Amino acid sequence: MKTPEIVLDDATGAPVKITVLRPSNFHAHFRRDALMRAVTPLQLRGYKYVLAMPNTGPIRAIAEAHTYYDELMRIADEEGSDKLSGILMTLYHTADITPAVIEQIAKQKIVRAVKHYPTHRPGQEGTTGSGFGRPLEEAGEMLRAMEETGVPLLGHFESVEDNDGRMLPHSEREGYFVDNYLWGLRDKYPKLRICFEHCSTRKGVEFVKADSSGRTVCTITPQHLWFTADDFGRYSWRNHLRCMPYVKTEDDREAVTDLATSGDMRAIAGDDTAPHLSAAKDKPFEQAACGCYLPHAIALYVAKFIKRGATNPQDAMNSYEHFACLNGPRFWGLPVPADDDTVTIRYETRRDIPEPTPVPEDNDFVIPLGWTAGSDKLKIGYALD
Ligand SMILES: [Zn+2]
Repeated sequence: MKTPEIVLDDATGAPVKITVLRPSNFHAHFRRDALMRAVTPLQLRGYKYVLAMPNTGPIRAIAEAHTYYDELMRIADEEGSDKLSGILMTLYHTADITPAVIEQIAKQKIVRAVKHYPTHRPGQEGTTGSGFGRPLEEAGEMLRAMEETGVPLLGHFESVEDNDGRMLPHSEREGYFVDNYLWGLRDKYPKLRICFEHCSTRKGVEFVKADSSGRTVCTITPQHLWFTADDFGRYSWRNHLRCMPYVKTEDDREAVTDLATSGDMRAIAGDDTAPHLSAAKDKPFEQAACGCYLPHAIALYVAKFIKRGATNPQDAMNSYEHFACLNGPRFWGLPVPADDDTVTIRYETRRDIPEPTPVPEDNDFVIPLGWTAGSDKLKIGYALD
């Protein structure tokens, strides 16, 4: 089959059935224990590859990552995720990651990268699981080993404080890190492969686009294509939209959306699905746990690409295939989907937002982004078949 294959509605001309190559997700959080068992089948559904970045109980050693991987694969096997080609893993960047660890990473196939989180003092808020790491300025030996081996650095690139120790507002953190650290890092380690995770600012986009070597890429989440900080005041389910980083302004959203939908090989789908029990979300907004639960990420991306390219759905879905199905495997040196390895997305308005996922052992639920029992439920208009 030649993909993307699009069936249009006779009356409206809108796409009602879209078949594309099997997408991948290069940024996912699976948690642990009961929560992991509850969300994993839904977070693997439809995908070819998924990159897992454990950050609740940071994983700092390869053996630990292999144990976590085995747990995920056991769930995947039980749930019959037979279309899944692979789960990749990252180690959390701490002082434990020596050049010897980087060399070990380069020699095996499960752990593929090191993920850097914002560093800060205990008690300061960065994001879920942040504050355990080592500043990149102190990681010279590790970074040189990464240049030599090609093991990528993945980054949640935000500064919690400025250089004078003043707390930065969330809205300035990514831009500050780009201006004060990232350009310097690129200059100092020109061969370092960098993935700018959940890029959410025009400054971040400009940093990624400045490198044409293929060594700098970014992941972009669906919530960052759909929402800005202004939307926090707009929805009853705002706490489920609270994630770090978030898109600050319409101009930032425009820059991120332009890059994602351009088909540029440096933009990769990575949804940052980050499930939390509803008890951790059901708090005053500023205290609600950071992260959006995205079992419906494929539909969220597709709907945005279709909306953006409304005059030419074929072009829009071509760009989607690059972004979600091809760019990631190419950056990671993995086989791209075969022509007949596809998924189908349908026009759907009643089941487009999945119901909350029960976590029976915790007597709680995880609520997907945009779901509410109220009247302002998000409308995506598409769902994975
Ligand atoms: Zn994340």
